[in-house]
Parts: sequence; C-alpha cells; structure tokens
Amino acid sequence: MTRPSLRPVVFLDRDGTLNPDRPGWYLTKPSEMRVYRKAAPALRLLRAAGFRLVVVSNQSGLGRGYLTPATLGRIHARLRRQLAAGGARLDGIYFCPHRPERRCGCRKPKALLARRAARELDLSLARAAVIGDKRADLGLARALGVPGVLVLTGHGRHERPHCAPFKPAAVRRDVLAAARWIIKNL
Ligand SMILES: [Mg+2]
Ligand SMILES: [Zn+2]
Repeated sequence: MTRPSLRPVVFLDRDGTLNPDRPGWYLTKPSEMRVYRKAAPALRLLRAAGFRLVVVSNQSGLGRGYLTPATLGRIHARLRRQLAAGGARLDGIYFCPHRPERRCGCRKPKALLARRAARELDLSLARAAVIGDKRADLGLARALGVPGVLVLTGHGRHERPHCAPFKPAAVRRDVLAAARWIIKNL
C-alpha cells in the first residue's frame, strides 16, 4: 500500500497565521486581505524543503451571511497574488463555510478537509504538520496524528493557555519561525 509518490505537507491556518486576525472580526472584503510580511518567506522555505502547502480554514462568515462565496474567491485570489509577489504559492485552499452550530463534519478541529486535500493532492500524512493560531488548529493536528505548531500571531497569545491540553509540538513567534521548526524537526 506504500505510495512513494505521496508528498509531505504542511496544513496552514489562514487568519492569524498567514494574515492578521482579531477577536470578533471577520475578513469580508478583498481589500482587507494583507498577508504578513513573513508569510511568503515561510512558504518558500517549506516548499524548498519539499512540503506541499495547503490552507485549511474555518470561514463561518459564509454561513453567517457576512460574505458570499464569490467574495471569498476574490479574497483568496488576492491572498494568492500577494504570496506570489513574494515568490510563494499554495497547492490548495480548503475551507469550511458552516456556522459552528451546524456541527458539520468539516469545521476544524475535524480533519475531513485535510483528509480530502490529502486524497486529492496525493499528500502523505506520515510527514505532515499543522501551523495555526488557535486550539482548533492543534485539535486538527491531533486528529491527523501529526505535529501542531502554535504561532503567537493572531489569537495565538490568547489561545496559548487553552492549547496546553493539545500539547503543541512547538510554540513559535510567527509562521516563519514555525516553518523553520518544521524543517528542522520533520
Ligand atoms: Mg486562525
Ligand atoms: Zn463545515
């Protein structure tokens, strides 16, 4: 059953990890998408080390009616453009559109979207990691059985005490430091 063609992967949270986030706020306009300065360098390093790069994001603003799927598509086009300007690209963007109350199967910390990405993109969960700023991201890492790296950008500082039960493999200042940890340790 070994499939040598499977690719190592880093699953990346979006808001608070690749771009700013703050409590009670939803990114609903393309003009509000501005990636962190360190995002593209982090992705470049990871790709050079052989990792595929997949965003897995909870976007309940869709289910709440705060933005439309078309607008989210424009936001993600802008995300990709900004990363491309820094020489970086993503292999996929997977998002859950549901409100938490829906108790859907795809909202992080559930692993459905990451597993779907693994199937569709021939990714190996044997050499994989998750980077994110919330306990749901570390819950995703646990559900996948892979290391989770908590970043202290976005909600990270506030979430840090709540993440202890999920035993982050590492806590790092930002996505670039998280990328360096993954390259050194995976
Ligand atoms: Mg986040
Ligand atoms: Zn969902």
